[in-house]
Formats: sequence, C-alpha cells, structure tokens
Amino acid sequence: MTIMQDAQKGIITDEIREVAAAEGMEPEVVRRRVAKGSIVIPHNPAHSPRSIGIGKGMRVKVNANIGTSMEYCNLEEEKEKARVSLAAGAHAIMDLSTGGDLDEIRTELLKIVDVPFGTVPVYQAGIDAIDKRGAIVDMTSDDIFNSFRNQARQGVDFAVSHVGVTKESVERLKRQHRLIPMVSRGGAFHMAWILHNGEENPIYKEFDYLLEIAGEYDMTLSLGDGMRSGGLYDSNDRAKFQELLIIGELVERAREAGVQTMVEGPGHMPMPDIEPNIMVMKKITKEAPYFVLGPLVTDIAPGYDHIVGAIGGAMAGYYGADFLCYVTPAEHLSLPDVDDVKEGVIASRIAAHAADIARGIDYDVDTEFSRARHELDWKKMFSSCIDPEKAKEYRKRRKPTEDPKACSMCGKLCAIEIVERYLSEN
Ligand code: SF4
Repeated sequence: MTIMQDAQKGIITDEIREVAAAEGMEPEVVRRRVAKGSIVIPHNPAHSPRSIGIGKGMRVKVNANIGTSMEYCNLEEEKEKARVSLAAGAHAIMDLSTGGDLDEIRTELLKIVDVPFGTVPVYQAGIDAIDKRGAIVDMTSDDIFNSFRNQARQGVDFAVSHVGVTKESVERLKRQHRLIPMVSRGGAFHMAWILHNGEENPIYKEFDYLLEIAGEYDMTLSLGDGMRSGGLYDSNDRAKFQELLIIGELVERAREAGVQTMVEGPGHMPMPDIEPNIMVMKKITKEAPYFVLGPLVTDIAPGYDHIVGAIGGAMAGYYGADFLCYVTPAEHLSLPDVDDVKEGVIASRIAAHAADIARGIDYDVDTEFSRARHELDWKKMFSSCIDPEKAKEYRKRRKPTEDPKACSMCGKLCAIEIVERYLSEN
C-alpha cells in the first residue's frame, strides 16, 4: 500500500502527520491533498527519509543535484557535497551520477542523505547500453525498466521519468525550429532512441508497467521535462506544451494507480512567461506539485546562474511552483564543486523563503530578525539567518574598532544607534 493509497482510503499515516506538524497544517487537510495528488511526500520505505511535503499550501522546497560525470568522478567529493547540501538546508537531493560505479555511488549517498533522494534511472540504462552494446540508442525497454526497479529497490524516493518525450512531441519539436532543440540529458536519451529506432518511448508506451514498479516500492515519479527550454528564445513554445498535455494525462493515470507524481518544468524563460507557464501547468495537471528547474531569466550570466535561477525561482514560487531545483554558479560551465553546491543551495533557499513570505508563510521570521537587527543583537541575527557561517565571516573580516556594538560600515555613525539615542531622549 502506498502513502497515496492509504490517503485515498482516509488513513492518516505517520508521514502525513509529520508533514502536517512541520507545516503547521491540519493532518486531515494534508491527507486530502495527498489523496488528490496536490501534495506529494516522496518516501520509499527502503530508504525511509524524513517526511517532506511538497505541494499545495506547503513551504517551497529546495532540491540539490549532485553526482559524478564521465569526466570527473570522485565518490568522496560527492559524499561531501551531500553533507554540505544537507547542512545548508536542502530538502531533497538528487544523484545525477554518470561516471564510476553508479550502484555503489547511490548506495553510499543513500546512507548519508536523510531527506528524499531522487535519481534519473534512464542514465544508468543508457550508460550500461554504451558499455554492453556500444550506444545509448541500443538500450532496450528491459534495460530502462530494470533500472527503475533496481533503483526503487535500493531506496530511491523519487525518480525522473521522461514520459512526455514521445513520437508525437518529438515531431512537434522538429517542426518548432528551436534555437537549442533540447537540453535535458534524459530527454536527449529518449529522443535519440525514438528517432533511431522509430519506435515509441517505452516508458510512455508501457506507462502502466512503470506505475506497477513505482507502486510496489512506493517511489514517487517526477514526470520530467525533456522539452524544457535551454534559452529564452525557446520558452513556452508548442513543443513544451505538447509534452505538458501528455504528462497531464499520465498524472491522472498515476493518481488512479495510487502513485504519487510531480511534474517538472520549465527551464530558461523571460520573467513575463513564468506566471502563464505555472497557471497552465497547474490547470493541465489538476494541481500536481511543480518541480521547477530554474527558471533562468537570462541566458548571459554564466558564473552567476545561481543568482539567475534564484530570481526565477522566487517568482515561480510566488506564482505557485512548489519545489525549486537549485542552480549552481558552475551551471553551463563545469561539474560543480563543494563550494558551488553550497552557494546553489543557499541561493535557492533565499528564493524559496522569499516566495513563502509572498505567499503569506513565515513572514514572522523576518520580523523577528528585524527586531534583532534594530537591537544590534548580532548573536540572535547569526542564529536565525540563512547562512550564519558567511554572515559571521563578513563581520569578523572587518571588525568595528570605535563602536563595537555597530559594524564597520558606519562605526560611530551607526544610524540605528544615533536614532535610538535621540528618540529615547524625546
Ligand atoms: S553601522 Fe551602519 S550598517 Fe552597521 S548596523 Fe549600524 S547602521 Fe547598519
């Protein structure tokens, strides 16, 4: 029995209770939304992570992508990235490894990660196909399904499945004449396979079988986003919405089977495209939780894409997205290192928190912080800010010499102190 099936039967499970307590919501409200599919709690019992709710009425959550590449593979570094992501407050971690012993990497990371753990199983199917048969397009339908099953058995809590990359959506993509046709790695595997073999995407064709595997292990499916735009020029186009229409139908089938689903989107897009994208997605999927990659609101800032992603993520969260996939400063340039991972998580957490405030959640946290700022209570500020380590480091770097209560920006001319002194005299 999956969490969703229990919820559909009216049962309030421990996971639902934990999520309700963390979010300050009634357990019955969370149960109803899990039953309908507007909230997911990715929780494979074989891993049993902390219960994190994603979706309607919840705080916006942050995911950190880590993992090796074929170019650079260091398990110890990936483990450190997982630890740093957790310490920085990531609510979920995805292992996108494509280099080294993928089963071992996953096993080791699962031991460290105590929040929902996600993967893209088609990566392993494609890489195994290269090893055994010479090319990604030689992977078989069994390779793909076995990869989903093996990873579910290992304890993966949510798995990306590019079910919207079908013969039909690929045809539309070809007619779209995009500037950059596709930037999703998993999407590219499926598109190449479809074009080479002239057959339908196996996980679309046999979606019921995928649901059977996901249901058996209570693994949430993240229906992704092969057609996400890789540049502003390609945002919100026909190919993207064709994929979304397909995914919307599959979300309903998953709900009928009691399998939790999220939907991924939308990639690079200018700011005015964000709100309509989210409105259409929520309508078509009947309020499925939205897991957004970016959105990246400009293409021209490599080295600073964590800021670009945070701007788009804050807007997306405000307009109703539920789950932000972080972007690191290394995006589009290289495999991120440990510092990049921390920067990425913090940037996305700021975006998520800004969106929460705009949605009327956690406003009081900022009011309390402002009170501490007015009292020049540095201890309290450091204990309640998003990145205490960095804040302390800055204060230490240039300590105030003349007025130790203030900071070295104004010293004796501290506006807060001057105003406080004269206000209290009158
Ligand atoms: S010294 Fe200036 S910047 Fe520092 S706390 Fe006072 S007013 Fe703010």
